[in-house]
Amino acid sequence: MSFEWVSYFTCEECGLERPSAEVPYDRLGYAVCPNCGTETRPAAPTATDASTLADG
Ligand SMILES: [Zn+2]
Repeated sequence: MSFEWVSYFTCEECGLERPSAEVPYDRLGYAVCPNCGTETRPAAPTATDASTLADG
């Protein structure tokens, strides 16, 4: 048995879900929602959260 990991694109605007391979991309490499045309932007960098780094 083989398992292929398929990443899904999910549109923040309309909630459309499509396999990433079926989603068009703009010239910058961002996925573009085929339904509403919203570009997927990289998530904003989050501040370092050390809440889980406490020493035992
Ligand atoms: Zn959309």
